[in-house]
Amino acid sequence: MNPKLELFSQGEEVVTGQTVDTNAAWLAQACVNLGFMITRQTAVGDKLEDLVTLLNEIAERSDCCICTGGLGPTSDDLTAQAVAQAFSLPLEFDPVAFEQIERFFLKRKRAMPEVNRKQAYLPKGAQRIDNEWGTAPGFTMRYNDCWFVFLPGVPSEMRQLFDSFVRDHLGKQFSLKPKQLVSLKTVGIGESDIQTAVASIKIPETVQLGFRAGVDHVETKLLFPHDYDQVLMTELIDAFAANIGDFVFSIDRPGHASGDLVNVVDRLMQVQKQKAVFIETLSQGLLSAKCVDCDWLIEGAYYSDIQQLAEDFDLALNDKDLLAVAIAEKIKHQKKVDLVLVQLHLSDRNTIRDKNIAVEISTALLTPHGMLQVKHMISGPAQRKQNQSAVLALDTLRRYLQLHQ
Ligand code: ATP
Ligand code: MG
Repeated sequence: MNPKLELFSQGEEVVTGQTVDTNAAWLAQACVNLGFMITRQTAVGDKLEDLVTLLNEIAERSDCCICTGGLGPTSDDLTAQAVAQAFSLPLEFDPVAFEQIERFFLKRKRAMPEVNRKQAYLPKGAQRIDNEWGTAPGFTMRYNDCWFVFLPGVPSEMRQLFDSFVRDHLGKQFSLKPKQLVSLKTVGIGESDIQTAVASIKIPETVQLGFRAGVDHVETKLLFPHDYDQVLMTELIDAFAANIGDFVFSIDRPGHASGDLVNVVDRLMQVQKQKAVFIETLSQGLLSAKCVDCDWLIEGAYYSDIQQLAEDFDLALNDKDLLAVAIAEKIKHQKKVDLVLVQLHLSDRNTIRDKNIAVEISTALLTPHGMLQVKHMISGPAQRKQNQSAVLALDTLRRYLQLHQ
């Protein structure tokens, strides 16, 4: 059985909802990936007795605990004091920690406030976790067969300490057997259609199937036991990929994450050494904005008035599909570029704003292999229409690139 781990967030602002507990969410995912079983997440305010009680309870019932927050210099930062009381350990001055805190202020050309001396006191026997990114060192210790790790509350510091020390440290203390997560990422198909597409596949009892619908894509997740047969795993993944079809833009496996749709398109464009121009309407610049880091996008233009767009290219506006094709051809001729993507719609503002009316978009992609044309109906509020049209345009590009790689 995987070791039991609890997360514990300290701070009045977390309990009262002024700060959203992103630390626990991030740590939970990181620790599940390491092979822990997360049994509980608790948030406690700045009350010493509550902290002491919780620490003792966790020491009784868990194998590991990661606590964030309460390591600062102020009177509401009580973690070290609570640990000392709960585990009957004196707080001891750590000269190395003190030197690090002094150096932190020196580097910033500031005098160290006297209150920060408090951060150099750690429970006797605790191992210090050096913090190059802030003032408060973290610390770790074993008590009653439970490994405790205490990290600062500031999310960026917490993550740095976890990545630089905690991950390896926990790997040494526990024999971890992480489950293997495989995720098929799709665009253009909803969860229920995916469910229908994979319904005929027999999933072994030890494999868990789950879905996660994000704003830009849907993930179909398969969670395999640590020692699952690799051949059988590949067979099951292949069956899922075949049934879902070309909506799948990438498959993430342990140790191989491909990122989102933009990352996938970006890599393909770089490998194939192509350059592109976009003309967008419904997505209102979002398509180009999504590709902000992509050098292959040499030009992107947004038109709110399609009549104007037609006039700019000296074309007549009688049919949006024909117009998209004609514009793509003109741009290719003018700019001598490999790929031109033109996405048009003919709906008025009120139609776009009405969440109950769908807008039809026509996407033309002119490629060295000829013209590709696709149509989509997009419904929902204006913002969804904007985002979906950008995502579907990118996906049209992705489908072409994957087919010709
Ligand atoms: P500091 O030295 O800054 O006082 P600390 O370890 O004492 O660090 P806290 O005082 O508890 O940490 O929190 C510092 C800041 O970090 C908070 O104001 C908040 O913005 C953020 N923070 C704290 N806990 C969390 C949490 N669980 N999730 C997300 N952010 C948090
Ligand atoms: Mg604090």
